[in-house]
Amino acid sequence: MQSSRKSLIKSSVRSSIAKLLAQARSAYAGGNPARSKRYVRMAFDLLRKHKVGLQKDLRNSFCRKCFTIWVPGKTATVYFDRKNDCLRIRCACDYSKRL
Ligand SMILES: [Zn+2]
Repeated sequence: MQSSRKSLIKSSVRSSIAKLLAQARSAYAGGNPARSKRYVRMAFDLLRKHKVGLQKDLRNSFCRKCFTIWVPGKTATVYFDRKNDCLRIRCACDYSKRL
């Protein structure tokens, strides 16, 4: 059964990504941003390889350019974009994304 196998893989990939992002967050909180980036990069590689969709809060929790975990007020700024009438988050590397 190809399709159920696929969905099984996707759900385990999704939970590994969630785990990696949680580890990235605690590595950052523990004062180890380099390790944190490594975790985010691993999560992002899985994401690209398996093309899984993530929940909004996970999708918006890291930078896909510099692999920094987003901690509002620390590594990222959330602000209101008047031009597009939406909330945006901006990373320290200047990458910004609609929330
Ligand atoms: Zn960034």
